[in-house]
Amino acid sequence: MSPFVFSSCLSRCQSVFQLLKARTRPLLYDGTMQSMCLSCGRLRQTIAACLALMISLTILTSTVAGQAVAPVVAELGVSAYPFDISQVTLGSGRWQENQARTNTYLKFVDINRMLYVFRSNHKLSTNGASENGGWDAPSFPFRGHIQGHFLSAWAQCYAQLRDSTCSSQATNFVAELLLCQNNNAAAGFATGYLSGFPESDFSALEAGTLTNGNVPWYVIHKILAGLLDVWRNIGDGNAKTVLLALAGWVDTRTAKLSYSQMQNVLNTEFGGMTEVLSDLYYMTGNTQWLTVAKRFEHAAVLDPLELDEDSLNGLHANTQFPKWIGAAREYKASGNTTYHNIALNAWTITVNAHSYAIGGNSQAEHFHAPNAIAAYLTTDTAESCNSYNMLKLTRELWVTNPSSTTYFDFYERTLMNQMIGQQNPADSHGHVTYFSSLNPGGSRGLGPAWGGGTWSTDYESFWCCQGTGLETNTKLADSIYFYDSSSLYVNLFAPSVLNWSARSTTITQTTTYPITDTTTLQVDSSSTWTMRIRIPAWSNGVVITVNGASAGVSTAAGTYAAISRTWAPGDTVTVTIPLNFRLITANDNSNVAAVAYGPVILCGDYGSTSLSSNPTLTLSSLKRTSSSSLAFTGTANGATINLGPFYDGQGFNYVVYWALSGSLPPATTVSVSISTTRSTAVVTSGSTTSTVGGTTLTTTTTTSSQPTGTGVAALYGQCGGQGWTGPTVCASPYTCVYSNEYYSQCLTS
Ligand SMILES: [Zn+2]
Repeated sequence: MSPFVFSSCLSRCQSVFQLLKARTRPLLYDGTMQSMCLSCGRLRQTIAACLALMISLTILTSTVAGQAVAPVVAELGVSAYPFDISQVTLGSGRWQENQARTNTYLKFVDINRMLYVFRSNHKLSTNGASENGGWDAPSFPFRGHIQGHFLSAWAQCYAQLRDSTCSSQATNFVAELLLCQNNNAAAGFATGYLSGFPESDFSALEAGTLTNGNVPWYVIHKILAGLLDVWRNIGDGNAKTVLLALAGWVDTRTAKLSYSQMQNVLNTEFGGMTEVLSDLYYMTGNTQWLTVAKRFEHAAVLDPLELDEDSLNGLHANTQFPKWIGAAREYKASGNTTYHNIALNAWTITVNAHSYAIGGNSQAEHFHAPNAIAAYLTTDTAESCNSYNMLKLTRELWVTNPSSTTYFDFYERTLMNQMIGQQNPADSHGHVTYFSSLNPGGSRGLGPAWGGGTWSTDYESFWCCQGTGLETNTKLADSIYFYDSSSLYVNLFAPSVLNWSARSTTITQTTTYPITDTTTLQVDSSSTWTMRIRIPAWSNGVVITVNGASAGVSTAAGTYAAISRTWAPGDTVTVTIPLNFRLITANDNSNVAAVAYGPVILCGDYGSTSLSSNPTLTLSSLKRTSSSSLAFTGTANGATINLGPFYDGQGFNYVVYWALSGSLPPATTVSVSISTTRSTAVVTSGSTTSTVGGTTLTTTTTTSSQPTGTGVAALYGQCGGQGWTGPTVCASPYTCVYSNEYYSQCLTS
């Protein structure tokens, strides 16, 4: 083969390989195909062999399921992958209930009302529809932003549940947006423009004379992102048409500005323009969109982060997160590690120095000095959008380093405590709070003055956090499971069913965690792979069994427990994570802390009482009062108070941060039940009881039997531990091995 023919063959082979990576994810392309491409290069096979390879790869690219429209460019620097949310179904529980309430609202909302500002701006009839209020009122400067969130949420509702009403809402809405965009000449707008406010606001922004409070690029980002989600999740051709026309307008509008002019423009909040333009590159393969994305890199914010400097003090918080997410997306498009460092440093600084116990950050929508936590426990803490964005950034980073549990420890903390509780469960439309107040006697249901100052409403609020709340509650299933070429990652513990179609396997997770300490994962078919289970850094003494026997794997806190085996139908993994009290101390005051029980931040129920300072909690008084719910009592300022999960903190005044007195009750034991039915006689049977803070917890072992035959290294039955009432001797050849002071098992040496 001549050098020219060879390099041409290899180049084409590699481009097909890249396409395949994007379409199929690692299961199909890793191993065989990568080695095929490499062998094409190394061995300089014949042209015929290369052509045969390309044909076979091309066939495979057309047989992969997933999103309605898949990206055509693979992400660089990534070693774990999310499942499409159509592959994960939520089981009954709080997450499913949140999802259902939001979906009810999504299907209820009148798209003629939602089209009002677009039709009006693009000089079309509003067809007698009523005006919206709040942040979508015809007089509100950045009207027309919420519709982008609705498009994303409708698309996700469809992707998750194949709900035809959600897809109709989305496609009907987009069809009308196309009519608006097509009327631009009559409206006096440039080709492709689409918004609820005049294009002249961009002229004013570029001239430095925009004073009406508008954040025009922020709105354009929302519309682009919504159209993108409708295109890729539903496959709607109109969405692609409108999206590419609007993106073309973005290119034209920004191409004429100098670098310094553009940097001045970027001083006004501009949302996730780098993110959505990068995504457009992944979806189309057109590098034009990366070029346009780069124009939105805001040097004043990104440069200090590249140097790992915390210069966040005083910045409007939610303006910044999308810039970091954009950097993460640009890293995966380019492989340029500078982008990755920016995103990673921003995440680390925010999590470690600016986040409250519930995972949220910011006060009065702004960052303050590093570690200023107790200093800012006010009514307007933890804007919801910030946490929505931090969770997106967390996903972006974890897939580049999936051996670290740090990311999903944070994800669980924020999703469970702030975001699940952002929604009001008493509202059938799932309305949400803007802030999560952390002042003593604070309460949820606090929004900005324009939009009611309360929970969101059907048509009179439409603030940013309502929009991101719609997205959050339509993608709750998207981060429970991930995969790589040989593994399944279990990052979150929630009742759910994963249809791992690439392996023709279903994994059913059954749990009431965090009310109980155990989750089970049942596998329904035969195949060989590794299940990697996140062991939270805050945990201690996690026990994992497979079919009732010890999994025999490390469960060290802050690692992934890795169970490698050839799975058989019905194999069941049981994970028990001991739940105990712990303190999350404020960075700036060691005598001020939130109390957690396992992953759950607790709050005290103060009814309608107003407080002026953090009550002093007698830590030793804390005790759980129910095994079927997360109900607790404790003594604060000398009075008995009831405590429960912060995610259930709606409809009353609460306390999250306390002044501290004394020490927490001692840690309790694992409530493990082991039951096996393998051959021969029962060798151990009994139970463990322990009392913690007045609560008695019991560990029961029943019918633990030892196997027969040679080569069996499993263990069967508990044989000792604090409070153990059964036999303490194991039958030969087994010996009693302790995993902690509460728990031991009969093991072969
Ligand atoms: Zn917001």
